[in-house]
Amino acid sequence: MRLENGQTIETEGVFIELGSKGALDLAAQIGVQLDTESFKYIETNKKQETSITGIYAAGDMVGPPYQMAKAVGEGCVAGMEATTHARSLILQLERV
Ligand SMILES: Cc1cc2nc3c(=O)[nH]c(=O)nc-3n(C[C@H](O)[C@H](O)[C@H](O)COP(=O)(O)OP(=O)(O)OC[C@H]3O[C@@H](n4cnc5c(N)ncnc54)[C@H](O)[C@@H]3O)c2cc1C
Repeated sequence: MRLENGQTIETEGVFIELGSKGALDLAAQIGVQLDTESFKYIETNKKQETSITGIYAAGDMVGPPYQMAKAVGEGCVAGMEATTHARSLILQLERV
């Protein structure tokens, strides 16, 4: 493979990572608190709750390490907490 600067690299394959825009813009638009150091990640607590009740975040958007296992684990917690939250809302409605 030859680079723009003329350098040649011996390789058996190339993986081209184009990158993609994350959902951070959307999160910022709806007012979810980002981390106050870099403003690159959504702040969550251990229940994956964001600063807005009923909105949960997990995976790469809450910060490194960028690993599948972390994203899946946090996603599981977020899903279970969201279910608990939804059930509590239903119970509140039933009491009215
Ligand atoms: C080249 C590469 C190699 C990697 N290799 C490994 C590896 O070997 N092992 C490992 O553990 N991890 C690896 N990772 C990291 C791993 O892929 C991520 O940590 C993981 O996918 C994060 O999951 P996620 O659900 O947070 O985000 P994502 O998998 O990025 O999912 C986010 C989804 O949200 C969608 N989305 C974004 N914005 C919006 C919007 N506004 N509305 C609706 N949908 C939206 C996106 O299209 C995407 O489908 C690799 C990553 C890359 C880029």
